[in-house]
Amino acid sequence: MSQRRKIYEGKAKVLFEGPEPGTLVQYFKDDATAFNNVKKGTIAGKGVLNNRISEYLMMRLTEAGIPTHFIRRLNMREQLVREVEIVPVEVVVRNIAAGSICKRFNIEEGTPLPRSIVEYYYKNDELGDPLISEEHITAFGWATPPEIDDMLSMSLRINDFLSGLFLGIGLKLIDFKLEYGRLFDENEQVRLVLADEISPDGCRLWDVATNEKMDKDRFRRDLGGVEEAYQEVARRLGILPESEPQDVKGPTTIQ
Ligand code: UDP
Repeated sequence: MSQRRKIYEGKAKVLFEGPEPGTLVQYFKDDATAFNNVKKGTIAGKGVLNNRISEYLMMRLTEAGIPTHFIRRLNMREQLVREVEIVPVEVVVRNIAAGSICKRFNIEEGTPLPRSIVEYYYKNDELGDPLISEEHITAFGWATPPEIDDMLSMSLRINDFLSGLFLGIGLKLIDFKLEYGRLFDENEQVRLVLADEISPDGCRLWDVATNEKMDKDRFRRDLGGVEEAYQEVARRLGILPESEPQDVKGPTTIQ
C-alpha cells in the first residue's frame, strides 16, 4: 500500500494509482464520519464489508445494463476501478421520508413519499453539500443538461433495481446517494458511468418486518450494533467476507 501513489484520501476511502493507465485502486477504510465530519469514528470491519457489498451491487447493476466504474475486486479492502472525472453532484433518491427531508418539510420519518424523489446536492465539504437545483448545476457548469438527463434516468433505474433486490432480502430501500463520473474513451468520447460505492454508508435500509435500521444511521444516532447491521446486510445478500468471488451465492429470498 505504501509504495503506490496516493491520488486522493476521502472520509471512507483512499484512491491509489492503478496498475494500468486509466485505472485506480479504491481502498475501503473502517473510518466513518457523519454530520459533515462533526462526528468521527471507526466501524470495525466496515471497509471489508463495504468492499464486498459494493462489488456485488455494482456487478448486479452492470448485468442490468447500468454502466459503472467497477472493474474487479482485488482483495479484502481494495477494488480496481476505471479512472473517471467525478461530477461534483451527489444524486439522492428517496422512497420513504428520512433524514434531511423530514426536517426540511416537517415530515414524520417513515412516511412513504407520493413518488420517488430525486434530489441534487453540490459535492463540497466546506459548504456542507448544499441542496441544489438543475439550474445551479447547468449555470455553474457542474454538468450539462444531457448529463443531468442521464443521471436522472440512471438513478431511477438503479432505484427500481435495488429496491427490488433489497425487498427480496427483507430490506426496504428508504433512500440512497449516488455519484457519477465521466469516462473518456480512446477517441476522447465521454460518457457518464456510476462511480464511488453503493453500501450501507450511503443508503438507508430498514428491515421489512421490524423497521430496524440496518445502515449508517446506527452510527449517526449511536444506536449500537453498527458492525452487526453491516454484517447482516452482507449476510442477506449472500456475501461473506471470507469467501472468494466464485463463492458468492447471491441473495436468499425471505418468505
Ligand atoms: N448521503 C450520503 N452522503 C452524504 C449525504 C447523504 O451518502 O454526504 C446519503 C445518506 O446516507 C442517505 C441519503 O444520502 O441514505 C439521504 O441523506 P439525507 O439528505 O437525509 O442526509 P442525512 O440525514 O444523512 O444528513
